[in-house]
Amino acid sequence: MLNPNFEKLSSEYIFPIIERKLAKARQERPGEEVINLGVGDICLPLAPSIAKAISDGVLDMEKRSRGYGPAEGYPFLRELIAENEYSSFGIGADEIFLSDGTNSDASNIQDLFASGCCVAIPNPTYPVYRDASIIAGNEVIYLPCNLDSGFVPQPPKEKVDFVYLCTPNNPTGVAMTRPQLEKWVRWAQETKTFLIVDAVYSSFITSSDVPPSIYAIEGAKEVAIELKSFSKSAGFTGLRCGYAVLPKALLGGKLHALWQRRADAKSNGVSYPIQYGAAATFTPEGRKETRAQVTLYQEGGRILREGLKALGFEFFGGVDCPYIWWKNPVGYTSWEFFDKLLSECLILAIPGSGFGSEGEGYMRLSCFTTRAIAQETITRLGTIRCAI
Ligand code: PLP
Repeated sequence: MLNPNFEKLSSEYIFPIIERKLAKARQERPGEEVINLGVGDICLPLAPSIAKAISDGVLDMEKRSRGYGPAEGYPFLRELIAENEYSSFGIGADEIFLSDGTNSDASNIQDLFASGCCVAIPNPTYPVYRDASIIAGNEVIYLPCNLDSGFVPQPPKEKVDFVYLCTPNNPTGVAMTRPQLEKWVRWAQETKTFLIVDAVYSSFITSSDVPPSIYAIEGAKEVAIELKSFSKSAGFTGLRCGYAVLPKALLGGKLHALWQRRADAKSNGVSYPIQYGAAATFTPEGRKETRAQVTLYQEGGRILREGLKALGFEFFGGVDCPYIWWKNPVGYTSWEFFDKLLSECLILAIPGSGFGSEGEGYMRLSCFTTRAIAQETITRLGTIRCAI
C-alpha cells in the first residue's frame, strides 16, 4: 500500500512552476539577461581553502582506506562545531549530529514523533516543514506571520507536539530577538512542547538583540533542537553538510538516544572529504574566506534594500537574513506581480503566496547576489510602471 499522505500535498512544488516560467521568458527574450533573485542559492564559487581541504580529504583516502564513517559524523568535525559554536552554551560534541543538510534534518526529525501528532508551523513557511509533516501523516496548524505579528510567529493556543521555528526566517527575512525567543522557550517549558529551530541563516545575523543560537536562551536545552548547515554560511549547497543539535537535557536524554538510534538505522553518514572540507571553515583562512562571502551577500542585500527604499517600495527583513520580504504594489497578487516583474524587468523573485496564504501580497527577493547585479536590479525596477 502506498503512503496516501502524498495525495494531500499541494499538487506541485512552487519551484518547478517558476522554472517553467523562467524557461519561457528566456525563450521569448533570447540574448537578454534574466536577473534571478528567486531560489536562495549561493552564487559565489567555493572558497579556495575549503576546496583545497576537500581535495586533501580525497587524497588522504588515496593513501589509506576510509570506509564507512560514523553515522553521526566524524569526531573531528563534531568537536570543532562544539568548540566554535556551542561550548559557551554548555553543549558538547556528542550532542551534535552531522547530516547531508538541514533539509534532510528538518524532515527526518519527524521520525522522533508518533505519526498523527500535531505540528505547528509558521505561515508563510519554508515549505519543507509543511510537506514533511503532511507526508508523516501529522496534523498541521499554522501560525500567522504577517504585518500584524511583526512577521514573528506567536505560540499557539492549542496543544501541539512540536513547533518549527525558522530564525532568521525564510521567507520573511526577519529574525527573532532575544525577548521573542525567550517567550517561545518559556511557553515550550510550560506546555511541554518541543521547538525545532532552523537556524541555517544564523551567519547572517548582524543585530545585537538577535542571539546566534536558541541555546543563548536559558532553559532552551530542555526544549529545543537546533538545525544548522554549512550551505549558506560556507557555500555548501552543492556539497551537502549540516548538523542537528540534540542536547541530552531534552526529555532526560531520550530524544538524543532516539536520534542516534535513527542515524544508526538509516544513515551511513556524510562523506569524509566533505566533512574534512567543513572542518576547514573553522581554520583562520577558511573563516576569513567564508566570512568575506557572507559579507558580499550582505552587501548585495544592502544595495537592494536601499534601492527599493529610494524607489518608494515597502519591504521587511533583509537585515539579519539574506531575504527581503517585499510588499507588492497596490492591486497586484503575488503571482501577478511575479509575471509583471519577469515580463517588464526580466527579474525573477518568488511569489510570497507560494510559501503560504499569509504570503499573499508579497514577493521574496533573495540577496544571494553580487553588488553589480543588485545595482542592475534597482536600475531595472526604476522603469517598472505601477502605483506603489
Ligand atoms: N532551511 C531553510 C530555512 C532554508 O531556506 C534552506 C535552503 O534554502 C534549508 C533549510 C536547506 O538547507 P540545506 O542546504 O542544509 O539542506
